[in-house]
Amino acid sequence: MDPLPRLRERPSDRERPSEIVQAERLKVTEVFLSLQGESRSVGWPTVFIRLTGCPLRCRYCDSAYAFHGGEWRSIPELVDQARAFGVRHVCVTGGEPLAQRRCLALLAALCDAGFEVSLETSGALDVAAVDARVSRVLDLKTPGSGEAQRNRLDNLPLLSAKDQVKFVLCDRADYDWARAMLADHRLAERCEVLFSPSFGQLAPRDLADWIVADRLPVRFQLQLHKQLWGDEPGR
Ligand code: SF4
Repeated sequence: MDPLPRLRERPSDRERPSEIVQAERLKVTEVFLSLQGESRSVGWPTVFIRLTGCPLRCRYCDSAYAFHGGEWRSIPELVDQARAFGVRHVCVTGGEPLAQRRCLALLAALCDAGFEVSLETSGALDVAAVDARVSRVLDLKTPGSGEAQRNRLDNLPLLSAKDQVKFVLCDRADYDWARAMLADHRLAERCEVLFSPSFGQLAPRDLADWIVADRLPVRFQLQLHKQLWGDEPGR
């Protein structure tokens, strides 16, 4: 397989009505190349497009610098910037990317350009309108996050084998809660399920032992980027 995406050409911005380009602008905190640190695509060189803003306030949030600020960028600019990195995978993240309505158009444009596209979302907002070519990674919030009441459970029946549900676990109570969610919503039958320890809060070995003891149909994950670079922004 060709290691690089066969990216499609697009008309230059000069050929497009300016009002369309303006209407497609999004607030962006950063665009950078790194390794995908979690999910099914872990380890792949990936372009991250981090959109600004999030309506949640998880206790362990490592992206608070994306809550405010950012720069307005057009969708064609973002696609071009992603293309210039020369890798196949693009991850749209945040903040909460779906808090910006134009995120949907960005995702479709990235798919049209030939990228393998994933979306990291808190699961608090509706994912129904996300382009079907996108792999949705839904971060279900546990009680330990302080934001479990924001989970939009109507999203769960929409998930398919292309999607993933992720639980970041802070303690044993979170593990028990996630295990009950797994059973109550038959999540492992819908999509891949990832259990990950909250960095610095839950010992990875404890979580690994619990999963093995319970024979849970989930995938244990360490956040690779945290092992490599800690909380450094843009990595
Ligand atoms: S949803 Fe993500 S970006 Fe928003 S507060 Fe929670 S961890 Fe931070």
